[in-house]
Amino acid sequence: MPVTMLMYHVIAAPKNAAEARFCRTPDAFRKDLEQIRQADYQVLPFSSVLEGTAGKVELPDKAVTITFDDGIACAYENALPILQEFDYPASVFVVTSQIDNYNDWGEAFGFPRRRMLTTSEIRTLDESGVDIGSHTANHLWLGKTEEAIVSKEVQDSKATLEDILGKEVPHFAYPFGSWSPIARDAVIAAGYTGACSTISGKNQKDSDPYLLRRSEIKGSDSPWQFRMKLRFATNDMPPISDARRILRQVLNKWKK
Ligand SMILES: [Zn+2]
Repeated sequence: MPVTMLMYHVIAAPKNAAEARFCRTPDAFRKDLEQIRQADYQVLPFSSVLEGTAGKVELPDKAVTITFDDGIACAYENALPILQEFDYPASVFVVTSQIDNYNDWGEAFGFPRRRMLTTSEIRTLDESGVDIGSHTANHLWLGKTEEAIVSKEVQDSKATLEDILGKEVPHFAYPFGSWSPIARDAVIAAGYTGACSTISGKNQKDSDPYLLRRSEIKGSDSPWQFRMKLRFATNDMPPISDARRILRQVLNKWKK
């Protein structure tokens, strides 16, 4: 403890500018994992983070968890082989109404059509040790959605994945990071044991297991920015110009 949880979406080159922020190329993703290894971080599965926040186990000082939102097919095609090269665990949160289909909810944001995971790819990911979690049925803003629909979204998606995998699916991630006390209660009532937000920061003992913090890794993050996010679990790193300004100030102080 404390644990940095990284949030990725698409592991592929962007097809247009609208989705660029959410696309980490396979090469950049592999370099991220190389940095994790070189910096001597332990990569923990989601379940270990929950044991740590509950105080059941003592977690290592340098720990990180890898998560992917949405359930785009590149989690299977591109991310899985790289994760296996490093033997690192990860969690994939799937929008269940679009399994075997396309990411059609992204159209409204100008995102290009991308293939979603198929039922059999979800099973293969699970058999490969990747933790499969829910990201609702329809990728709604739960924080702005009425209670009955929120409950249905979190329950139906859990049931769908449990049917596919034949086992319990205890983990959840809020679409758009959108939550409310009502949504959080619905996630608890549906029987989940933990949920990821998009609030930045680290997770430690007594962190809310239903609002775990994550650091978003963007398509444009440089290796230096990735390293800073790994260490400080921020969402936005200052641009390079700010870093240069701070460095100049420090150097000027030394000169005096
Ligand atoms: Zn999402």
